[in-house]
Amino acid sequence: MTPNDEQKHLSGRPRILVVGGVAGGASCAARARRLSEDAEIIIFERGPYVSFANCGLPYYVGDVITDERSLLMATPELFKRRFNIEVRLQTEVRAIDRAKQEIEVKNVVTGDVYRESYDALVLAPGSAPIRPPLPGIDLPGIFTLRTIPDSRQMKQWITERKVEKAVVVGGGFIGLETTENLVRRGISVTIIEMLPQVMPPIDPEIAAPIQEHLAANGVALHLSDGVAKFEQNPDGHTIAVTTKSGASFSCDMVLLAIGVRPETTLAREAGLEIGQLGGIRVYDHMRTSDERIWAVGDAVEVRDFVTGDWSLIPLAGPANRQGRIAADVILGRDAKFRGVQGTAVCKVFDITVAATGASEKTLQRRGIGGQPVQYEKVFLHPGHHANYYPGAKPITIKLIFATKDGRILGAQAVGEEGVEKRIDAIAMAIQRGSTVFDLEEAELCYAPQFGTAKDPVNMAGMIAANVVRGDAPVAHWKDAIGSPALILDVREPGEFKMGHLEGSVNIPLNTLRERMNELPRDREILAYCAVGQRSYYAARALRLKGFNARNISGGMRSYGAQRQTKGS
Ligand code: FAD
Repeated sequence: MTPNDEQKHLSGRPRILVVGGVAGGASCAARARRLSEDAEIIIFERGPYVSFANCGLPYYVGDVITDERSLLMATPELFKRRFNIEVRLQTEVRAIDRAKQEIEVKNVVTGDVYRESYDALVLAPGSAPIRPPLPGIDLPGIFTLRTIPDSRQMKQWITERKVEKAVVVGGGFIGLETTENLVRRGISVTIIEMLPQVMPPIDPEIAAPIQEHLAANGVALHLSDGVAKFEQNPDGHTIAVTTKSGASFSCDMVLLAIGVRPETTLAREAGLEIGQLGGIRVYDHMRTSDERIWAVGDAVEVRDFVTGDWSLIPLAGPANRQGRIAADVILGRDAKFRGVQGTAVCKVFDITVAATGASEKTLQRRGIGGQPVQYEKVFLHPGHHANYYPGAKPITIKLIFATKDGRILGAQAVGEEGVEKRIDAIAMAIQRGSTVFDLEEAELCYAPQFGTAKDPVNMAGMIAANVVRGDAPVAHWKDAIGSPALILDVREPGEFKMGHLEGSVNIPLNTLRERMNELPRDREILAYCAVGQRSYYAARALRLKGFNARNISGGMRSYGAQRQTKGS
């Protein structure tokens, strides 16, 4: 596009009004200014701040971030001076008159109500924490965490009430990040989670190490149970949280972190299309069902890049990118949103968990495009950097891929170091529609402090590619336990003695070639070792000699996590 072409789109003085001034709204407005010096751009923000770091709130509660001002990424003055964008704080947009292309606005401080006209309207109202109508939900001491004032109130409560015990309802990202920060402040935390695992978007065997780590840090986990009611204890200070199963937990404060629902009131009342999941329905260009109205961020329902399903993904990355795309389209560029992958990372005390693409749970439940998909998964536990260099920490990686062509469908990882960079690399591969063969060939950074010459991402690709090519098919513990196959443990006798699968036969890898005659040719052999590497060598050697052998992916290190879970 030449400068002249740009000028064509920017003729006149379009009025771009943006509802919501944080991730999606602020990035949309700023991008619009970079594309047009002529547009009039106004952001309406209900709250007292524009462009604040809601992702930093748990760390403000935990005093990791000590100065509240650090949470403010920009001020109205900065928007005015730097971008010539007007920001109206404490100003709520109450209605959209689509026929007249006007919005009705209320200054929440003065009560003044007025109207503004638009050429393009961008809805970026975000989402609101879910507060189910449970008995006692409005008791003092029950918090949600979404805004700076929310975090300020929590901090004040913690200090003034000298909080010792807290209940966090919900074991998702916000629940876990806040748990860590409450513990940092010396508070003893119980997490109540309705599902049998924490971190609902990931698979249970990747959640299992997080659960162990939470327990090791003194956090009590109460899984597979929902909250039924909250009551004030007779002491007048503490709250009793009773679950559906009848368990009761007394505490000084509660954080409700059971998810968010898209803010769609404005859109609904204006008659915009709402999707099946309750988000504002938008199409590729982030346009709603009204061609003059765009919507971005937590409030919208967009396509999942892997499964093709409509999806609600309340994450800052998509909100920012969508804001930028909406601005591009409004100002005449042909930008398209590619869909969401749910790429996310969370730190829980000393471990990091990250994921991208479809989980196995999702594939089992919904398939791809509503059709069942043939997929396989591999588990590996490489060091985050060369094992010979001091300080290598294992990462557990699960890679899920289509068996037909090796297309990467999803990946999850958990460990102390180097987790997110592996998931980021795979996220990009997924977005490019890459296969496990591409991961095999990916050229990634290597020096001993950072990785291995065969990076964990390459290794994941190699193991998966071996499966797709039929060179090294894998089995999983659930296939092995109780199966008629011979279970072969190829670790050293000392390791075998420390614990092994009941009924397994121990032939260490180093003696396997001499002892192959001890193994049956008419029965499948499932080999395992500590992490799946020696048993891969064993399974390859056996297959080359005509045995029907598979490697149990992830070895003993995956056994514990998989045994605790179903369907892995
Ligand atoms: P928001 O950023 O929520 O902004 C919406 C704004 O619109 C709000 O300020 C609201 O006041 C305003 N508004 C709503 N209705 C109106 C109206 N009618 N008139 C005027 N203004 C209105 N995501 C990550 O990717 N990584 C993280 O680590 C992460 N951590 C998080 C931690 C916490 C505690 C929270 C709460 C969220 C976290 N998120 C994280 C999610 C991320 O912050 C959101 O996905 C992102 O902010 C969504 O952007 P948005 O623009 O859609 O909405």
